[in-house]
Amino acid sequence: MSKANLSRYLKREAKRIEQPIRWSIGLSLMSGLLLIGQMGMIASIISDVLTKHAGLADVMLPLCLLPLLFLARAFLSYGAEKLALHAAIDLKHDVRGRLLKRLIAKGPIRSREGDSATGDQVTMLTEGIEALEGYFARYLPAMVMMVLLPLAILAVTLVRDWLSALVMVITAPLIPFFMILIGKGTEKLNQKQWHKLAVLSAHFLDMIQGLTTLKWFNASRREAESVSRMADDYRRTTMSVLRVAFLSSLVLEFFATISIAIIAVFIGFRLLYGEMSFYDGFYVLLLAPDFYLPLRQMGSHYHARMEAVGAAERFVDLMEEDEAPKTKETSLSVPQAGLSLSFEHVQFAYDDGTVALQDVSFSLSAGQKLALVGPSGAGKSTILDLLLGLIQPTGGRILVNGVDLSHLPVDLWRLQLGYLPQAPTLFSGTIAEALRYGCPDAPMEAIIGAARQAEIHDFIMSLPDGYDSVLQEKGGGLSGGQIQRIAIARALLRDAPLLLLDEPSAHLDRATEGKITAALQHLLQNRTAITIAHRLSTIKEADLILVLEGGTIVESGTHDQLMAAKGAYLRQVTASFVAAGGQEGHDG
Ligand code: ADP
Repeated sequence: MSKANLSRYLKREAKRIEQPIRWSIGLSLMSGLLLIGQMGMIASIISDVLTKHAGLADVMLPLCLLPLLFLARAFLSYGAEKLALHAAIDLKHDVRGRLLKRLIAKGPIRSREGDSATGDQVTMLTEGIEALEGYFARYLPAMVMMVLLPLAILAVTLVRDWLSALVMVITAPLIPFFMILIGKGTEKLNQKQWHKLAVLSAHFLDMIQGLTTLKWFNASRREAESVSRMADDYRRTTMSVLRVAFLSSLVLEFFATISIAIIAVFIGFRLLYGEMSFYDGFYVLLLAPDFYLPLRQMGSHYHARMEAVGAAERFVDLMEEDEAPKTKETSLSVPQAGLSLSFEHVQFAYDDGTVALQDVSFSLSAGQKLALVGPSGAGKSTILDLLLGLIQPTGGRILVNGVDLSHLPVDLWRLQLGYLPQAPTLFSGTIAEALRYGCPDAPMEAIIGAARQAEIHDFIMSLPDGYDSVLQEKGGGLSGGQIQRIAIARALLRDAPLLLLDEPSAHLDRATEGKITAALQHLLQNRTAITIAHRLSTIKEADLILVLEGGTIVESGTHDQLMAAKGAYLRQVTASFVAAGGQEGHDG
C-alpha cells in the first residue's frame, strides 16, 4: 500500500469525526484570537506605563481584564483538547471494532499464514490502533491551526509593522521544509520499529502458549534470553526513532529562535533610531514567538502522523479489502430429501501461489457419504475450508442443490453445516451452554435427547452438577473422547443437512471408539456428509471415496471398486494398515 493511499485512508477515517474536530479547531482558533488580544493589552499597559507615565488607576481596567482572558483561554483550550481526544477515542473504538469484525470474517485461514501472524494481529489491534489517537486528536487540528493562527498573527503584524511581517513570511516556510526533510527518514525507521514489535509480540505469544514444551526441553532460560535480545533490539530501534524526532525538534527550535531574533534585531534598531513606536515594537515582539509556535509544534505532531501511518500500513489492506462479493440468492431451500452437492472443476490457490486444489469435480446426492483419503498436504482440509466458506474457489464452482455457493450469503450457508473438527473447541461455561452453542434457544429436553444419542448423557449425569457442570478452559478435565461426543451432541442439536467431519487420526481405545462410532451413526443418519477419513470402517461405508494426491483426484469410487483397481487407494490403505500396526485389520 503506497503512502498516498495510507494518507487517503486516514483522511477517510477522519471524515467520520469531522464535526467534533471542527468544533475543536473553532475553540482553538477563538483561544488564538484571544491570545492576540491579550498580547495587545499587555503591550499597551507596559507602553502606557513606560512611555506615557500612566498611573495604576489608568491601567486598572486592562489589568483586571487580563486574568479573565487567561481564564477564558484556559477553558477554550481545555474544551478543544477534550473534544478532539474524545472524537479520537470514539474513532479508535470504531476502527478496532471494524478490524476485529474483518479478522473474524476472514476466519482462521489468515492466522495460518506466516509465523508472526497472531502476534501481528494482536499488535495491530492494540498498539496499532492506539497509534491512531495522536493523528486524529493532535495532528489533524494542529494542521489547521498551523495555517490559521500564524495567518491571524501575520495580519495584525502587517498592520503594526510590515518589515517584521516580511521576515515572518520569508522564514516561516523554512520550518515545515526542514521538518519534511527530516521526517522522511523517520518514516522508514517507524515502519522498521513496528515490524520489530510485531516479531517480538509473536515470539512472546508463542512462548507463553508453548510453556509446557519449553519447560520440557528445559529451554525457558534460553528463550527468555532470546526475548531479552529482541526487546533490546526493539529498544535500539525505538531510540533511533526518538533520536531523529529530537533532532528534528532541535532544528525547528533553532530556526524559530533565529527568526525571532532577526525580528527582534530589526525592531531594536528602529526603536533606537526612533523610527517605530514602543507599543508597535513591543506588541510584534510579543506575538512573534506565537507566530512560530504552531509551526514548531508541527514537528511533534508530524511524528504522531508518522506513527499512525506506520501502524495503519499493517491493517489498511484488511480494512480496505472488498467485502464478500454481493450475493444474489438470499435463501437456500433445503428440500426434505436433504442437501446435494457438486464440485465443478474447483481450483484453489493460496495468496503465496501454493496450489492446494486443481480441477476437483465430483457430485454427491442428498444423504450420500463421501470419504476423502490421501496423504498429508493432499488438499483434504482445503475442501472442507471451501465448504465452510473460509476460502473461495479461485476457479470452478461449488453447487449446493443446484445453487452456486458463491451466490449464497455465507452466514445463511453456515446454518446448513454441521462441523466436527479433529479437536473440537469447547469454550468455558457449563456443559449445557457448550451443547447449546449452535442453537442458543434449544430447550433442555432437546439437549438431553441429543446427549443421549451422542452417548454422553450418562457421563454428564455422573458429574456432581450434571448439565450445569462448569467446563474448564478448552474442555480441560474431559477426555478427548468425551469432548468428541459433546461436539457430536452439539452437531445433532444443530440438525444441519450437511456434515463436515475431520476424523481424529489418533487411535482411541476400543470402548471409546465404539461409543463415538455409535454416536456418529446417529449423526450421519439422513444427512449428506463429507469426512476426512482415517478409519477403514468409515472409508468402507462411504458411498464415494475420493483419493487425493497433490491437490488432484487420482482415484474415485467405492471401496470395492477401488480395491479392484489396485491403484493409489490400495497403496494408501495398505500404508495406513501398516502404520496402524494392524489395528484396522479387524475391520477389513
Ligand atoms: P491435507 O488436509 O490433505 O493435509 P491441506 O488441504 O491442508 O492438505 O493442504 C493442501 C496444500 O495447501 C498443502 O500443500 C499445504 O501446504 C497448502 N496450504 C495449506 N494451508 C495453507 C496456507 N494458509 N497458505 C499456503 N499454503 C497452504
